[in-house]
Amino acid sequence: MSQEKFNTLRIHAGYNLKDHNFASSVPIYQTAAFGLENTKTADQIVTGKLANRYDYSRDGNPTVRVFEKRIAELDGGVDAVAVGSGMAAISYTILNVAENGGRIIAPKNIYGSSLDEFRTFFPKFGIHFDFVDDINDAATVKALIGDDTKAIYVESVANPSTEIADLEQLAKIAHAAQIPLIVDNTFPTPYLLQPIAHGADVVIYSSTKGINGHGNVVSGIVVDSGKFNWDNPKFPQFKEPEFILGNGELPTQANFADKFGAQAFSKRLRMKYLRLLGAVLEPVDAYLILLGLETISERLDREVASATKIACWLKQNPHVKRVFYSGIEADNPLVKQYFPRGVGSILSFELAGNLQNVANLIDHVKVFTYLPNIGDSRSLIVNPTRTTHREIPEAIRKSQGLNDQVLRLSIGLEDVDDLITDLDQAIDAAFESEK
Ligand SMILES: *Cc1c(COP(=O)(O)O)cnc(C)c1O
Repeated sequence: MSQEKFNTLRIHAGYNLKDHNFASSVPIYQTAAFGLENTKTADQIVTGKLANRYDYSRDGNPTVRVFEKRIAELDGGVDAVAVGSGMAAISYTILNVAENGGRIIAPKNIYGSSLDEFRTFFPKFGIHFDFVDDINDAATVKALIGDDTKAIYVESVANPSTEIADLEQLAKIAHAAQIPLIVDNTFPTPYLLQPIAHGADVVIYSSTKGINGHGNVVSGIVVDSGKFNWDNPKFPQFKEPEFILGNGELPTQANFADKFGAQAFSKRLRMKYLRLLGAVLEPVDAYLILLGLETISERLDREVASATKIACWLKQNPHVKRVFYSGIEADNPLVKQYFPRGVGSILSFELAGNLQNVANLIDHVKVFTYLPNIGDSRSLIVNPTRTTHREIPEAIRKSQGLNDQVLRLSIGLEDVDDLITDLDQAIDAAFESEK
């Protein structure tokens, strides 16, 4: 999608003034339920035959719906389902794909809670993960695919190393085995990368992060590409007769694959997982995300420029051992292929010092805020091994170069020179007593 088209859609997609009393700003429908009008209309609403009509905000809400349609359009998907957190988006997606049990291939260098869930929690539900050290090692990934492999799961840009996944190569491998490629695209946001255009079948976001961009809402969203064929014996749940899809009479032959075709995945995620497990997004939260989304292009452009300048500055600092930011790897072909507008606002660096130096640095920042989040308008700093990646065993962290000296930065909208001055004085203070 062209940048011009994206810039218009992030303001207008999914919203028609005529359907909302010509309100210019998307109204907040702060209501649990909606009148059914009369018994005939009620039948049509509850069976989904009337577009733009709702019955209960766990099943759908007009404010939340604008957010879903907007992200689906920005990402080139057929639909999207908004949920109460990024973790809910990940959990519902994995369950919707592999609820009958099976195996999923994933890299180890993923978000801490995702890795914890995949390693220690999903196996209790019969869903097991085959972890790889390098998700771009095609031979290893191919060799792991077996009869019960249900998907390949990957983060487009890894946290906190910013390693880039070769989505087109992974999509080819997945599709040859008739399994979907699931991509957590939280770090780049749809502004910097649209994974469906590179072969992804399902895209997940924690919209707590850069999509909203102001650090005021926890939320998530799942985008359905509509391209994967779920009418496949590996995924029998999409062909099971579902009472909820019938006319309230048994037996019914209606199933998600036949009834919804290209939208089978998102319809099932909404009607089974969101409706029954219930991690809904609140209308007022959807409103705040939509407000943040309106400035995504300007925010990301500025944050990428600042992150690049800060990464280059850190690289020449004698107290910095290593900088993790693929955005400054001029010879990295994956940057050119996937990220013409930049890799994102998050970078990490390893301090050449001890634990006390790391603590001193964190305790001396004044413009940066010390907290575990990313994609905020404020610049943030965190020590991953003590916070966001605490639940990852040391052996796995070490294999990713993630030790106690690594600090992760999320660059916001402050003046970049103020940010560099802040890091400079905090690094000085970190080593002060050793002078
Ligand atoms: C934050 C994050 C999540 C989890 O999202 P929540 O909204 O905090 O539940 C998942 N994946 C990535 C890459 C993240 O950064």
